Amino acid sequence: MKPIVLILLCALFFACLPALSEGESSLYVRKIENLPDDFIFGMDASSVIALEDSGVKYYDFDGNEEDVFKVLAASGITHIRVRIWNHPYNMAGNGYGGGNNDIEKAVKIGQRATKYGMKLIANFHYSDFWADPGKQMVPVAWAGMEIEEKTEALYNYTRDCLVKLKDAGVDVGMVQVGNETNGRMCGEKTWFNIQYLMQAGAKATREIYPDALVALHFANPEKADSYATYAKKMDYYKVDYDVFASSYYPYWHGTLENLANVLTDIANTYGKKVMVMETSYAYTAEDTDFYGNTISDGGAIIKSYPFTVQGQANNIIDITDTLVNKTPAGIGVVYWEGTWISVGTESWEKNNEKWETYGSGWASSYAKTYDANDAGKYFGGNAVDNQAMFDASGHPLKSLKVFKLMREGNEIAPAADALEDVNMICDLNAPLNLPKTVNAVMTDNTKKALPVTWNLTDEMDRKMHASGPKQYVIEGEAGGMTARAYVSMIEYNYLADYSFEEGGKNWVFTDLNKADELYIEDKKTDSLTGTKHAHFWSAKKNSVEFTLEQTLTDLPGGKYTLTASIMGGDAGNTEIYCYIKIGDEIIAKAPMTITSYGNWNTGKTDAVVYSGSGKITAGVYVKCEGSGNGAWGKIDDMMLNSIK
Ligand code: CA
Repeated sequence: MKPIVLILLCALFFACLPALSEGESSLYVRKIENLPDDFIFGMDASSVIALEDSGVKYYDFDGNEEDVFKVLAASGITHIRVRIWNHPYNMAGNGYGGGNNDIEKAVKIGQRATKYGMKLIANFHYSDFWADPGKQMVPVAWAGMEIEEKTEALYNYTRDCLVKLKDAGVDVGMVQVGNETNGRMCGEKTWFNIQYLMQAGAKATREIYPDALVALHFANPEKADSYATYAKKMDYYKVDYDVFASSYYPYWHGTLENLANVLTDIANTYGKKVMVMETSYAYTAEDTDFYGNTISDGGAIIKSYPFTVQGQANNIIDITDTLVNKTPAGIGVVYWEGTWISVGTESWEKNNEKWETYGSGWASSYAKTYDANDAGKYFGGNAVDNQAMFDASGHPLKSLKVFKLMREGNEIAPAADALEDVNMICDLNAPLNLPKTVNAVMTDNTKKALPVTWNLTDEMDRKMHASGPKQYVIEGEAGGMTARAYVSMIEYNYLADYSFEEGGKNWVFTDLNKADELYIEDKKTDSLTGTKHAHFWSAKKNSVEFTLEQTLTDLPGGKYTLTASIMGGDAGNTEIYCYIKIGDEIIAKAPMTITSYGNWNTGKTDAVVYSGSGKITAGVYVKCEGSGNGAWGKIDDMMLNSIK
């Protein structure tokens, strides 16, 4: 039996533990029907060389050190994507980071991809550093150019780069002209200018790699009509391209159904191929390189799958199915930076040295000369190491096998992949009834309630009830996984909206003598707790007389006390008490007094025995004679607690 663990911060714990077995057979993979032999399974591996320079090693599934490109090819990856920045270096030659990916890096990566039979997707950002919907900065060398000159520079640059790739024997299968170009590109902000640049990139591609596909790449498919608008612009300007490609990160980018709809619409209207050019999913919420991750357990994101290795695979399975079977012109799915792992697990200092020296973090401090507002402020390590398909030590996750397994399927019996935490409060004076089942996400991404066995002994139960208000984590077992129940033992208050923070829900004022003001007031300084309380005031003498009541019909049988607090002034003679009524009869009451502003007085009734049937009412009766300006007061924190 495990001891009860007292914890302070429930939020730090979560139940998304990876499934126990790492064997191939434990990865559930739905067979994707109609999957074409030439379907593109891509991997963006842009940062591999900077990582290797930083000392990172990769391994195959047998645990042997191996060229990561060989491992990828053996896992069913057909295309390697690499980003290309014009000149990601400052004047002194220090790299901006993010892999320091210039054309020389792309050539090296391309050669290794080609060696293992994979094609290259050359991804031109046409910037000296990251280009995305948030920024499309012009390369320093092209700054200030008019569009005609920039177009020519872009054409020449693309041509030169592609010639370098060709001379190096790289098998380029696709050229991406611009990255996430949602209406901006290379410093240009009008489609009129952008289309010239896209045409120039396409032209260079057709000349050097006539068999390669030309792709344009956009983001945010969830934004209504945006893709239709982009495609219409491309058509209007007769931009020469083959593939309309989209980023699709399930946390932010809408449903797969929407993705299929918007891409199918473009394919049908303009006869284009479509694909997902970037996706990824977290296999863990943990960080492994001392630089915080974009995706972790908190934050307002859509969590379509658990953060598990299986969850990561399920994202790829569902996207692939969508592109193959619901998007007729879908040609492929590219996973983003599945090889970008931690450069070390020792310390931030050691990693930082590598990020700065080799550019293996997302941005180095040197990037500030080019991108002062983003990279210049937030430079550092890897914010996506928990979305890689290799673990922090370079060993492939079993999810990497998904690409191959989707062809034949590996539809083993679904097992539990992650368990939902149980969160509950328990009255110190009531029995602790832990649930008999917990909700599980299964490896096939279905949900199922699984029977659970809790490690709760009678002795632990007794101690929890005897130790006052505290929080506990009780562990248990369900579906071969560890279940956790976060239990707060509290002095439970059976009244709804006890502190009036919900505006007095379930509370009833009954005015007995025409008071001027009776309402729930939102004024923190006049509240005992929270920001709201029940307020009363009347200018006339003897006009304050009212009750404030809440009636319960589903209270379990037991012994109860009522506590209420009041403060006020100018009250003169008063008769004030809180009370418990069973049926229409007051069974217990406790006197309360008003003195002056800020002096709260609390009344507490004796215990009453309630059988469990018939209505029971908790209330406050207030009658003030009033002096001078008339009586006023505030009532807050009404508590109906059970006692033994
Ligand atoms: Ca990180």
